[in-house]
Amino acid sequence: MTARVADARPLTVGIDVGGTNIRASVVDGDGEVLDTVVAPTPHSARALENALDRAVRELCRRHPIGAVGLAVAGFINADRSTVRFAPHLPWQDTPVAQRLTERLELPVILEHDANAAMWAEYRFGAAAGGHNSVLVAIGTGIGAALLIDGELYRGTHGVAPELGHLQVVPQGRSCPCGKRGCWERYCSGTALVDTAIEMLATDPVHSTVLAREVLRDPGSLTGRRVAGAAQDGDPLAVAVMADFARWLGLGLAFVSDIFDPGLIVIAGGVSSSAPQFLDEAREEYARAITGAGHRPLARIRTTQLGEAAGMIGAAELARATLAETGRGRSWAARSTH
Ligand SMILES: [Zn+2]
Repeated sequence: MTARVADARPLTVGIDVGGTNIRASVVDGDGEVLDTVVAPTPHSARALENALDRAVRELCRRHPIGAVGLAVAGFINADRSTVRFAPHLPWQDTPVAQRLTERLELPVILEHDANAAMWAEYRFGAAAGGHNSVLVAIGTGIGAALLIDGELYRGTHGVAPELGHLQVVPQGRSCPCGKRGCWERYCSGTALVDTAIEMLATDPVHSTVLAREVLRDPGSLTGRRVAGAAQDGDPLAVAVMADFARWLGLGLAFVSDIFDPGLIVIAGGVSSSAPQFLDEAREEYARAITGAGHRPLARIRTTQLGEAAGMIGAAELARATLAETGRGRSWAARSTH
């Protein structure tokens, strides 16, 4: 019985293919990370595939691996085999899954990084039991994922959802996507900096510590610094976080008007500063949602798995693929290495 359970839940590798680093981990069927390899992300497609190949082979030497999942920040096609476009990676319309499958002789799947994180939180973390959930990962921008009736919603072309680029302010701040007034321009780590500088420009509060820092060197300000200053009670930083909380609550109300989720998971780097904004965001969310006061609200929680969520989710999705295809034998077991 024990052996059958072990066979049904093989080890898989989940890889977070970030713009700076590749993090590849061996993950078990309970979402536990057993081993991790980290390498810098090369700048050419060939070098990147070589680096991924090396990382997986290193892990295969130490563990019996059945499949590999890649979490990628970019557009993945609907069958999850090809990276259409990834702004921080050298792949464009590249059949990454096929290339790596041939090299590694293992099933390889791709997944949008927010989808992978959503899946991990649903299976093992903050969204456990939340069959209709939204994940909003707030960092430099917003990454988002939708779980509908217990399934990831990928849209017709594999690019849904781009919630960060919902326009919340007509003619608002310009966005690298080419539009103006996108949600993530007001609700991200980058937005914390922009809001602080805007607030100082329109209503200089020279007396606060943060204000003096910004005036001395505006280029040195980071979202993390704003959040830290808010924690220390700096009035400018507190006002910036309140503005952020309002945009977060408002955006989540839009999202809930469309999808009516039961659970919203706030992830990404900014989520670590949740005590500085989450209560206010919940209040704004409850005010801004259509039918406020006459409907149940989604629970809003922060990530449980943190930065590892994408990797764990990619590994778990790879495991599901393995079960579907019935390929249970590991590369290590078949290899003569
Ligand atoms: Zn945009």
